[in-house]
Amino acid sequence: MTSSAPFDTTGRAHSELMRSENQMSHSISRRAFKASAMATALCASIGSVAAQVTDLRPPTVDTSNPEEIAEGVWIVRDHRIWLVPNIAIILGRDAALVVDTGLGPANGERVLALARRLAGSRQLILTLTHFHPEHGYGAQVFRRDASIIYNRAQRDELIEKGARYIDLFRKTQSPAAAAALDGTEIVMPHVVYDGSRAEIDLGGRTVELQTFGTAHTRGDQVFLPRERTLFAGDLIEERMFPIFPWFPPADTEVDGLRWVSVLNGFRRLDPALIVPGHGDPGQIGIALNLASQIETVRRKVRALRAAGKTAEEIIREDKPEIIAATPDWEHPDLLDWEINYFAAQPS
Ligand SMILES: [Zn+2]
Repeated sequence: MTSSAPFDTTGRAHSELMRSENQMSHSISRRAFKASAMATALCASIGSVAAQVTDLRPPTVDTSNPEEIAEGVWIVRDHRIWLVPNIAIILGRDAALVVDTGLGPANGERVLALARRLAGSRQLILTLTHFHPEHGYGAQVFRRDASIIYNRAQRDELIEKGARYIDLFRKTQSPAAAAALDGTEIVMPHVVYDGSRAEIDLGGRTVELQTFGTAHTRGDQVFLPRERTLFAGDLIEERMFPIFPWFPPADTEVDGLRWVSVLNGFRRLDPALIVPGHGDPGQIGIALNLASQIETVRRKVRALRAAGKTAEEIIREDKPEIIAATPDWEHPDLLDWEINYFAAQPS
């Protein structure tokens, strides 16, 4: 990064952050050691749910047909394949911002090759909607070619849970997904910003990075170019059940109440187009539909718990009725995580 770096954040100076990155690569190896024991507990707790994942297609990002949804704003669709995210490449005059990488280094290479092709001589910048493996575990291939920027909460969560999630995915996802993770290295960003907002000036186009506190994860980011296009990551899935990463005791940081409030708050951003983490792009309705589903499940589970039912009983006896309310939504297996989360919350 030079003095002409396009970042305008509230964070510390870049050189200081580069020093802290070196310190972190030391601490992450110690943390990763602790994480493997946690991963064992994690797998035991979600094994029965993971076994129900039925989409065994390789989670390969198909970069052959990117779509230009606005001038200089490209997306690579997930084609509704499990563990493939929607990916964006946003071009300015001087720089190009890549949002998410796909699962593992081979997907990262595919996205990097497309970004190079679209960006030409522009400087490359990478950021992630959040730290989860299918969104960010191809970042290592960008290390030399791009400046990587995350918010502090996202970076900290990656340090704490990054290695743990590799073990988790290897043990609970499809063989193809496990293979995609071969050779994955957890890499730290070059730049970290503090606070809830940062701006990146790509040259004639400003991108806003906003974060809202723990919802789907601790450091979810949303990107709102002036074109009113919102890249929401897993805060929003379209025609798909929400992903509650509720894996006690290893990961319990999801916050369902704040998640609903963040989704309803997206109305204030007045987005013309929302690109969800998974599923098809849409308008504000896809955010509000998801907020409504989460709030409905929260109320229902709370009432059933008050009536004495356990989470297991709710999943066995009441899940079909909840699924029936959104019959065309994919991956109803994810509802188990959502029910378990709300069943565990204090009444
Ligand atoms: Zn996620």
